[in-house]
Amino acid sequence: MKILYSTIAIVSLSIMAEICPTCGLPKDLCVCSEIDREQQRIRIRLETRKFGRPTTIVDGINDKNTNLASTAQKLKGVCACGGTAKNGQILLQGDHREKVREYLIKLGYPEENIELQ
Ligand SMILES: [Zn+2]
Repeated sequence: MKILYSTIAIVSLSIMAEICPTCGLPKDLCVCSEIDREQQRIRIRLETRKFGRPTTIVDGINDKNTNLASTAQKLKGVCACGGTAKNGQILLQGDHREKVREYLIKLGYPEENIELQ
């Protein structure tokens, strides 16, 4: 009986962890991250940094459900380039504006909110 009770306790704990702290709904039903994404304006631009190398800069990704560092990591893989995330921006070496845009749309960011410069 004791074993059964602790199993129930573990199961209910893991269910609790799946509830969104913002709206209180289970994560399956929660649309907070989608709402966040709809409200964001993302800018993708190209800058020439030191030594004349072009750098793709992505800013405006600031929803709390998105980890900027891991998004940067994925973008580096998609674009096969070096890059970093800092100060709320993702920096990628080279001109990858179109690829970044496509990838962000795949992630669920509305196309009309992504500005390509
Ligand atoms: Zn929510």
